[in-house]
Order: sequence, then structure tokens, then C-alpha cells
Amino acid sequence: MRIDLARQSLLVLTVLLCADVLAGSLRAQAPQAERQMVEVAKDVYLMTQAGSNSIFVVTEDGVLVFDSDIRNADVDRAAIRRVTDGRIVYLFSSHASGDHSTGGWHFREDNPVYITPRDQVRAYFMTELKEFEERKAEGRPGYSLPGSSLMQPTVGFDDSLTLYFGGLTFQARAEGYGHTSGDMTLYIPQRGVMFMGDLLNNEVHPGQADAGGVFKAQIQGQIEILNRIIERSLAVDTYVPGHGPVHIGRGVVDVSDQRDYFVLMREEVANMVLAGKSWEQILKEFRVPERFSRYLPGRLPNILRLFYNQLIENGY
Ligand SMILES: [Zn+2]
Repeated sequence: MRIDLARQSLLVLTVLLCADVLAGSLRAQAPQAERQMVEVAKDVYLMTQAGSNSIFVVTEDGVLVFDSDIRNADVDRAAIRRVTDGRIVYLFSSHASGDHSTGGWHFREDNPVYITPRDQVRAYFMTELKEFEERKAEGRPGYSLPGSSLMQPTVGFDDSLTLYFGGLTFQARAEGYGHTSGDMTLYIPQRGVMFMGDLLNNEVHPGQADAGGVFKAQIQGQIEILNRIIERSLAVDTYVPGHGPVHIGRGVVDVSDQRDYFVLMREEVANMVLAGKSWEQILKEFRVPERFSRYLPGRLPNILRLFYNQLIENGY
């Protein structure tokens, strides 16, 4: 009886272990396993968690998608299909980073018009395509799917572009060099929402936007862009972040929080630099200000390094 029990518990343990290993490998292959859909405003849906955020807007004339990641755009596409059978007519990306601009391949049957600022078209040829092929060769999840390829933008614009589609107005704006050199926001006045890409991160430290090992996010640029967005005083109920949970109805406070984050964090690092601390000491001793202390710590070292390097290089 004792042996039977021992065998039984061993069996249970084995099953649990197998389930765990299987779940682990599924997670490794498909970070989309826990993807969640949130309706941010009427017909405006956010796909969030398990990676960067993507948004889709359903209209009577089809669907518009903002941001896509090849690692989870198949799950996002399935979610779109559960809401509507309308074709994906337009695709935008907030900036040329793998987690925001690679998922178009999953929408290829719909052949969407892919619109970005012209800088992103340039980035496609300078860094994105190379990075995509490298990740594919490494067998990275999503990138190594048979036949996968990087979809190239089909329309580039310089400063701003207004799209009238399905009874809605979409105001796209090239915001300049902040998180990347080609950051774009998209505003829908009728829905009171603005899609921010990685100019806005809720409850998480921002990424450093490493592109081609050379280009990084510009802290000062991000502060200036966020200030300009605040000064526009648009009727936005919800600014939708590129990472982290959406705060529906919180309005411009999210944007000023993000601006304050960059200002206050940079000040903290600057004080340590002025006190003669080395990078190693800063990394070890840095304490996140109380206001941001509950942010997930994962991306903290990289953004600290960015603050440090740009302070050393530029003095700001
Ligand atoms: Zn991102």
C-alpha cells in the first residue's frame, strides 16, 4: 500500500513535471499564451500582457491595427477574428522595434496598407531587416516560423497624416526622436484615445530601444515629445501605452507621470555621477524614487545605463 502510494505520488509528480516542462516550452515558443484583450473605448481593443501592447480598431469598413509583434500577432489576429470578420485594411507601427513592427506577416492574407513615418521606412532597410534575419537564423520564437518575413511599410509620411476610415478619423503624427528616431502616435478624436507606442510605459521601466547596436532611446527627446503632447491639450480620455497595463480614463496624468519619470530618474543618476560614483556603484546603489518603486524591475539596469551614458556624453 505504501509502495502504491509512493508510485502514485511519483506518477502525479511526473505528470506535474511534464505539464510544467510542456507549459514552459510553450511559453518559450509562444509568449502569447497569457495574452489578454481589453476594450479601451468603443470598438478599440488592446491586446496586452505577455509582451508589448498591440491595438486594433474595428470599423464598418474593416480593421486598423496599431503595432504588431511576430511572436504574438497570430494570437492577436485570432482575437480580431473573434470580434469581426472584417479585413485588416491598415497597419501602423509606433516605431521600428521588433516587438512593435514585425507582426505584419501574420496579416499577409489581408494584405493591409502598412503606414509609418518615413524614418521607419529607412530603419527597415538600415537595421530592422538585418535584425529580423539574425533572429530568424537564431531560431528565435516567432521569427523562425516557416516562411516568415518582415513586412515592409508601403506608405511613408513626413510630419503627419490623417486617415478617414470607417467613419473615424485617425491622426498619425511623426513625433521625432524620443524612444527611437521614428516615433509615431495615433489619435482618434471620436474615441478619445491616443496610441503612444513606447513613448508611454505604464507601471514598468521604459526600454532602451537598442537598434543595430548603435541607436538608443534619447532621454531628452522623450521628455520634449511628452511635453509637446501634454501642451496639445487634446480631448484624450486614455493614452494607450506600448508596455504595461492601460489606465482607462486617466487622461494626460499618465503622460505627465512618464515625463516626470524621465526627469526624476535622470536627476537621481546625475546626483550620483556628481558625487563621483562609477557606473558599477550606481548600478549597485541606485534606489528607485518612491513614486516609481512599484514598477517591475526587469528593465531597470538598461534604462539606468542609458541615463548614465547620456549624462556622461551630453550633460543631460
Ligand atoms: Zn516596446
